[in-house]
Amino acid sequence: MNILAHLKELSAAPGVSGYESRVRSVLRAAWKPLSADMGVDRLGSLWAVKADSPAAKGKRKPAAPRPRVLLTAHMDSIGLMVSRVEGEFLRVAQLGAVDARVLPGQPVRVHATARDLPGVVARPPAFLLPKNEREGVAPVSELVVDLGLAAEQVRAFVKVGDAISFAQRPVELPNGLLAAPALDNRASLAALTVCLDLLRKRPHAWEVIALATVGEEENYSGAYGAAFNLQPDLAVVVDVSYGSDGNVREFSGKTFALGSGPTLSIGPNTHPGLFNAFKAAAERHG
Ligand SMILES: [Zn+2]
Repeated sequence: MNILAHLKELSAAPGVSGYESRVRSVLRAAWKPLSADMGVDRLGSLWAVKADSPAAKGKRKPAAPRPRVLLTAHMDSIGLMVSRVEGEFLRVAQLGAVDARVLPGQPVRVHATARDLPGVVARPPAFLLPKNEREGVAPVSELVVDLGLAAEQVRAFVKVGDAISFAQRPVELPNGLLAAPALDNRASLAALTVCLDLLRKRPHAWEVIALATVGEEENYSGAYGAAFNLQPDLAVVVDVSYGSDGNVREFSGKTFALGSGPTLSIGPNTHPGLFNAFKAAAERHG
């Protein structure tokens, strides 16, 4: 499979918290050929039971119940939402932990009912502001989205509550690196797709279920609901972390060497037995 193309497609699909239907469609198409069964739960999370290889199928008694391992990653991303229409500009509220420092100048897409509208996050030019307001970070509440439309066009298309996603083009950097929107957590979803694909050729005792959850950036609602719905015996949660390499300084144990494989998380919400098993497996395989 072409992982880069899949990841770019996932990155480009809108799916801010609570509005995941479009990224879900991309995933559904990718997981369908790899799954024996799939569905969407009432909150909107997508689950897929991995299809057995024909060889593995032949070996197992058909009715034998198997323990289930859930491989899960959230599919929602941070974004913005229209909070007020002010003439030709939109005031916005943040969905998830948006970093206001990087917003001015960002291309966005406003997901209006009729269609997506391209726009740019804007703030007044520094030289028009009083001196004491020129420096520092403008909070989200002081930014606007400019759609390039006249006030009456904006009123006709856009309403309060329309979701807004970031729309930067992906940039392929040297050394196999990609900079793109929503890699938190589309990178993990692409990893799950690769995992389902690789497992096709390997017989395994446990039933494997992939899950893409909604709402992580706000309140984890999708993960809570899906845990009750799917009742797994064990869950592996995949998310992104902070990388360090020659260009990024070390932040006291909070960054991890880029390109050196996955990072294991440890804390009160990590099962110590599972952590130790993963650590041992990682060490075994170098
Ligand atoms: Zn995440």
